Amino acid sequence: MSQWVYFFGEGKAEGDGKQKELLGGKGAGLAEMTNLGIPVPPGFTITTEVCTYYYANDRKYPDDLKSQVKDALARVEQIMGRTFGDPANPLLFSVRSGARASMPGMMDTVLNLGLNDATVAGLAKVTGNERFAWDSYRRFVAMYGDVVLGLKPVDKKEEDPFEVILEKVKHEAGAKFDTDLTTADLKRLVTLFKEEIKRKLSLDFPEDVYEQLWGAIGAVFGSWMNDRAIAYRKLYDIPGDWGTAVNVQTMVFGNRGETSGTGVGFTRDPALGDNRMTGEFLINAQGEDVVAGIRTPRPISQLEGVMPAAYAQLVDIQHRLENHFRDMQDFEFTIEDTKLWMLQTRTGKRHPFAAARMAVDMVLEGLITEKEAVLRPEADGIAAFLSPIFDQDAKQAALREGKVIAKGLPAGPGGASGRVVFNAADAEAWANRGEKVLLVRKFTSPEDIRGMNAAQGILTAMGGMTSHAALVARQMGKVCIVGCGALDIDYEKSEMVVGSRVVKEGDWLSIDGFTAEVILGQLPTRPSEVVQVLSGELKAEESRNYQQFTKLMNWADAHRRLQVWTNADTPKQAETAVQLGAQGIGLCRTEHMFFEGERIHYVRRMILSDSEEERKKAIAYLFPMQKEDFVGIFKAMNGRPVTVRLLDPPLHEFLPSREALRPEVFEEKVRAVAEELKVSAGEIEARIEALHENNPMLGHRGCRLGVTYPEIYEMQIRAIIEAACDVARAGIPVKPEIMIPIVATWQEMRIFAEMSRKIADEIIAKAHAKRKVHYLVGTMIELPRACVVADKIAGYAEFFSFGTNDLTQTTCGISRDDVRGFLGEYVNREIYPSDPFQRIDREGVGELMKMAVKKGRKARRKIQIGICGEHGGEPTSVEFCHQIGLDYVSCSPYRVPVARLAAAQAALKE
Ligand code: ADP
Ligand code: MG
Ligand code: MG
Repeated sequence: MSQWVYFFGEGKAEGDGKQKELLGGKGAGLAEMTNLGIPVPPGFTITTEVCTYYYANDRKYPDDLKSQVKDALARVEQIMGRTFGDPANPLLFSVRSGARASMPGMMDTVLNLGLNDATVAGLAKVTGNERFAWDSYRRFVAMYGDVVLGLKPVDKKEEDPFEVILEKVKHEAGAKFDTDLTTADLKRLVTLFKEEIKRKLSLDFPEDVYEQLWGAIGAVFGSWMNDRAIAYRKLYDIPGDWGTAVNVQTMVFGNRGETSGTGVGFTRDPALGDNRMTGEFLINAQGEDVVAGIRTPRPISQLEGVMPAAYAQLVDIQHRLENHFRDMQDFEFTIEDTKLWMLQTRTGKRHPFAAARMAVDMVLEGLITEKEAVLRPEADGIAAFLSPIFDQDAKQAALREGKVIAKGLPAGPGGASGRVVFNAADAEAWANRGEKVLLVRKFTSPEDIRGMNAAQGILTAMGGMTSHAALVARQMGKVCIVGCGALDIDYEKSEMVVGSRVVKEGDWLSIDGFTAEVILGQLPTRPSEVVQVLSGELKAEESRNYQQFTKLMNWADAHRRLQVWTNADTPKQAETAVQLGAQGIGLCRTEHMFFEGERIHYVRRMILSDSEEERKKAIAYLFPMQKEDFVGIFKAMNGRPVTVRLLDPPLHEFLPSREALRPEVFEEKVRAVAEELKVSAGEIEARIEALHENNPMLGHRGCRLGVTYPEIYEMQIRAIIEAACDVARAGIPVKPEIMIPIVATWQEMRIFAEMSRKIADEIIAKAHAKRKVHYLVGTMIELPRACVVADKIAGYAEFFSFGTNDLTQTTCGISRDDVRGFLGEYVNREIYPSDPFQRIDREGVGELMKMAVKKGRKARRKIQIGICGEHGGEPTSVEFCHQIGLDYVSCSPYRVPVARLAAAQAALKE
């Protein structure tokens, strides 16, 4: 017989904290706390295996489940000395979902289960508190009606039907808060709620407590497959077949009056990372009241003044929990008549910025090892240390001008500006058409997740640091302010009133997630502390962020095998990247240099040339400038490898483009170019016509230019090597690598390897530098054909660098500029597991890469292999590059720290 049910209570649990897969996160936490001797109301967990069984068997339960539940229930009854459904002294339960990975708010909890018209009287009698009994009952009917019976608002503008009735009764009774309602009001609520259920659903509210129990259990299992849960799983890569557990637990009551309450907290600050307990509580409240944002909760530190004994016990327990689990915990508690009960503990979600800071602190406190610290923060999140903050002068000015209109609680650090939208669907739609939006809500709920993800930042009027908005924003690494009571939001009118100001949908607004200030307009930003230290504006010892950042990075470097290089086109970018830890340049694009200053003029003259001679003349002008570029970059890199890609884009990109411009503007530009080059407009237009391509991605570009106009490549090779020799002569080490783009055949590679060697060796021989310049010639691998013949190409190439942007385009046959219409749908329907331009498509592109690595190494054992596509800074792709044995990844300068951390994590996970 399988065990479907695990009991916990009175200091002993059948399960334990390690059994998250079986008991779900919540069930495992309850079992572990019980075993630790922490006060937990007794109950039992129905395992995730039942959920799996349920969906595999046409939504039926295993045969022996009923009897196991009955036995567990009897054990609880015995401990509590009360009976489920007993009209004289009823035992009540909560029914709570709990998946393996916590899915905040995805699954619904039902409280006070076991109340009916008979038991409510018994509860009133034994507690001597009639108001409390009816308060519990009205909550139960509403929750059951919503979660189990499914009486919910049908669209985003409709209010919750139970909320509407509650508001009406409150209004009629002249009550501001729920707590102001009298027993008579509460009784009326129960009647009205039941009538609403009958009217809208043609259902009688179930009086039978066992029917209630099985209804709630079924609802929890059912909710595993609701849209919100599915959307959340998709966003966080949680497999659909994991299933949820159900926890049935004795109720304890925070709504028994002034000596009762409920709260939630974190053992540290989950937004900023500081080591202090944070959280909030409400007196005379139950369950989700704290996070729902209906009453604004009080900060947890104030609990000390209200109930000192319970507070002291809570401080002690949260220390024990953190030391036991060796990580920040997110906990829930209820105080019934001054007695503290713990209802949940789990590893707390945190802002990526906080995750990194906390990990460093925990190492210094001796709680975790350096390795653990490296593994904990999401690699992507480290970018938060580099993301901009608001310009302080601009903020001061805004303050003086009265533009700082409100203040809330800081739930996600950083500065964000965007146009205001008041619902999640709009946020998603606006963002999809390229707008920056700020999502403003009274409070958020799970159905808002996609909109939250699409927004620059999130601002809510209600709720505290543990509200849904705060929780999700932290996890997503979004800038966020919650509990901003000054906002009076009107969804119907799509506007909000803040004091004397009206902010309408579409208005620009800025939020400062460090200080929780809301500012009118679009505020300019400044570099982060870390970036300021790197640029010398701030002293390292004055920035704790910088110190923590550097520690973590150093620990990561000790564990990674992959090198991290950067994609940089200018000495300035190169310098920044080196400061952020780059060990080389994996991609220096020369075409950007062609646009600078007066160079574009010579590039255009080159393009307009009719003879080789003319062309050579134009190129001769470009040569010294190009050489200067390389000198600057070589110096900045001081001996680290610099991979220079020879000209890649098709030549028409250097002339005005007809499609992108309105006809008048196009003609004007053509005239300007004609004047500049002293030729006729007709001649320019004719050349544009001749160069026109429908699909430049596969056109006359890359080494194809080198074949047809060898002078360009010859000039670039000469500029690279002469620059290298000059730099070497000045005593600075230098390591140039010449990279040929868009190679598909070994014949192409041979042409350019020979061209490079001939030019380079001659220059080097003549240079007589003390330090002889060593250089490499290699290729980008960005066409499937190149992967297939990689062994032959390796006969001439000393290195490969995967250009995964083009490799993805050419492998999948998708032009990156034309994906708007379908790629979203493709990802939603899992036709591709994720956007192949963001994460390497392992099954397709990845296989080709593996083939190229294998063939390349077979032909040339020591061939250097890296990646310089956009993927080089994306953690899962970095992991893949580690797994297939590349030597380095190369990414944009600000992604370098992300890649360093991701590379270390990939190595440590092996
Ligand atoms: P979630 O997964 O959304 O956090 P929970 O199952 O933790 O849902 O329930 C939400 C809240 O309901 C808890 O924080 C707690 O305040 C309250 N609650 C749940 N079970 C009980 C119980 N047995 N007694 C008192 N309150 C409970
Ligand atoms: Mg919930
Ligand atoms: Mg909870």
